[in-house]
Parts: sequence; structure tokens; C-alpha cells
Amino acid sequence: MTRTFALPTSSRRQVLDITEEVAGMLAKTDVSSGLCTVTVPHCTCALYINEHEEGLLHDVLTLVGGLVGGEDWHHDRIDHNAGAHLGATLLGNSVQIPVEGGNLVLGTWQRIQLVELDGPRHRRVNVTLISD
Ligand code: ZN
Repeated sequence: MTRTFALPTSSRRQVLDITEEVAGMLAKTDVSSGLCTVTVPHCTCALYINEHEEGLLHDVLTLVGGLVGGEDWHHDRIDHNAGAHLGATLLGNSVQIPVEGGNLVLGTWQRIQLVELDGPRHRRVNVTLISD
């Protein structure tokens, strides 16, 4: 089953912790063991799993901005957001988390993060649950 929640973003580039929203969607199901896949149906935002620490969030955005900035990208001739597309391509648009005991199996410091690269926008997040 796939369920969707809406997520408005407020900045051009930002990292949002969506772990509680995903866990909340899992809690509304009877899935106790299986796999949770989270995807974003967008071309200019991304997902990753890591620590949600302020300094690290800054570093992630600085890293991505440094990798995709300063070039004369061809896509900029269309809508001036090639860097956002390229950053999303590098980071990816999905993450997978095992489910055990009705809970997401994440490490102590691991959080599910949505990276907005071309905001502010109204984003949608898809949560697909596969039960064992
Ligand atoms: Zn574009």
C-alpha cells in the first residue's frame, strides 16, 4: 500500500526531518514486519537518512551547493533550477527502512530527511509499506 502526505517547505534550500510523519503513517497500518519505502514524486527535492544535527544539515546543503553551483548548466536555459535537479539526482528520491515490531528500524541517530533544493514548494511524500 502507498499513502501520501503533504509537506510544505519554507526555504529555497532546507533539510526537513520527516521521520515522525513516516512513523505515524506506519502506525495507522497493521504492518508489523516488512519494508517501508519512502519516495518523493518530484525532480528538485531528495531524501536521505542520517543524523538531523544543525551543523550537519548546513554541511549537507553546502556540499550539494558546491557540487552543483557555478556551472553554465543547459537546463538553466529553461527554468533556472538545474542545480536543484542535479542535487536531487545525486542524493536520490527514495529511502528504504526495515519494519520490525511495527516500528521503523533505524539507528539511534538516523532520521529520514527530505532535502528541499528549489523551494519553497508544496511537496508530497509517498510511503509504501510491504508486509512480510
Ligand atoms: Zn527545471
